[in-house]
Amino acid sequence: MIAPMEPSLPLRRGVVFILSSPSGAGKTTLTRMMLQNRDLDLNLSISVTTRSRRSSEVDGIHYRFISERQFISMRDAGELLEWAEVHGNYYGTPRAAVEIILGQGRDCLFDIDYQGTRQVREKLPQDTVSVFILPPSMKELRLRLERRAEDASDVIERRLENARKEIARWKDYDYVIINDDLQRSFDDLIAILRAERQRRPRQERGLEKFVAQLLSE
Ligand code: ADP
Ligand code: 5GP
Repeated sequence: MIAPMEPSLPLRRGVVFILSSPSGAGKTTLTRMMLQNRDLDLNLSISVTTRSRRSSEVDGIHYRFISERQFISMRDAGELLEWAEVHGNYYGTPRAAVEIILGQGRDCLFDIDYQGTRQVREKLPQDTVSVFILPPSMKELRLRLERRAEDASDVIERRLENARKEIARWKDYDYVIINDDLQRSFDDLIAILRAERQRRPRQERGLEKFVAQLLSE
């Protein structure tokens, strides 16, 4: 048995688990699969965005859809942990929700781009684990964007143009997964998360007490 902890102190530090990819490579699908797996106890950071809502999206679940004026006001009030302009729209991570989750020693999942990843890593260097998802080919990337059928053709062209710039950032990440077979990519993601949770520095506070108890037996 682990020795009882002071109620306010979590056993380990929460993981800031970032997934990035060029649009269409599959990170929303993988994010959804991770969140549906209740045993993982992952909490999604819900971003704010000025982009218009897709038909499949629900306000407050996939994003909080806000006006440019609201976005600028949040940003200038310091309410965003990070923010970026992506494909001509603003996106940002509200700070408060993330602080609550991490403060409980729980893990937070972020679906953000490379600009946001850099900002979060600078602010939370010990807690951040970043994974970049690559498509198996540019042809398949186009097919996935077209098959998703949620964006107009000019939006798809813009996202494909931006994809090359985004793919070039792969070296900024701790892990890289080529998302060819969806189930295998998902298994790899879980393996990364599980291993990162066991890293000694993340568990140090809980382990100090556990080992002290162990040695006192
Ligand atoms: P992103 O969030 O990176 O823009 P999505 O998760 O929306 O991408 O995926 C884009 C499309 O590709 C979706 O229709 C999704 O079902 C499909 N998709 C995702 N991963 C795979 C995969 N490994 N094989 C085939 N199709 C995939
Ligand atoms: P989409 O419009 O397809 O949902 O997302 C476009 C891009 O914006 C994706 O690369 C996604 O990861 C990124 N994104 C979504 N939310 C945020 C955020 O809060 N901050 C940053 N920096 N990027 C985000």
